[in-house]
Amino acid sequence: MRKYEDSYQHKGLRKKLMGLLREKGISDENVLKAMNNIPRHFFLDSAFDKIAYEDRAFPISEGQTISQPYTVAYQSQLLQVKPNDKILEIGTGSIYQATVLAEMGARVFTIERQKKLFEKTKQFFFKNQYPNLKFFYGDGYEGLPTYAPFDKVIITAAAPFVPPKLIGQLKPGGKMVIPVDEDHHQRMLRITKNADGSTSEEAFENFSFVPMLSGRNG
Ligand code: SAH
Repeated sequence: MRKYEDSYQHKGLRKKLMGLLREKGISDENVLKAMNNIPRHFFLDSAFDKIAYEDRAFPISEGQTISQPYTVAYQSQLLQVKPNDKILEIGTGSIYQATVLAEMGARVFTIERQKKLFEKTKQFFFKNQYPNLKFFYGDGYEGLPTYAPFDKVIITAAAPFVPPKLIGQLKPGGKMVIPVDEDHHQRMLRITKNADGSTSEEAFENFSFVPMLSGRNG
């Protein structure tokens, strides 16, 4: 059995990481507070214990990754999360990003297409602490029609295009944060759904994500 421990050393490294994220331009105090509260090393294999607070992505299983802290902070900030926001996340992966949003007080619905990663959510360490976090096995391109509409949608894999069904599941005034393929990287976009159903788009920095694939696996 793995021993989970959040030591003073971990807390110190985490605080330092928050300083680095601030220097890199993250200014949403609610995002920084949530990330400072969550032991990122719990979401990684214990072999990564010493380096979990470097600003890097790491492999999880099934060839997938836990996003870099800067990327998690950046997407969370762009989402402009308010307590009680109903948020759909595509790409549960390590559950770290979803936990950050849940810690911020949002109601989070997260979808994973890899069966093995989805199965892991059943042993999620913080299960009882976040009743506002719900897990689904499915294809993110389809979203969750039963639970729609959402205030916010966040995609944490490289999307070849903006999935139309996910725009359809946004409330009027809702926002989607999505990294969309451009040559060898992804451009972070924030799409706002207007009251008349049309959309407006803002473009931000470039990032690098694992691909958003279609269909379920497993
Ligand atoms: N949010 C995650 C990032 C994981 S990487 C974290 O904080 O760790 C992206 C994840 O998206 C992978 O686990 C991958 O399996 C998943 N994914 C890719 N395409 C998907 C799709 N169509 N539907 C649901 N999940 C998808």
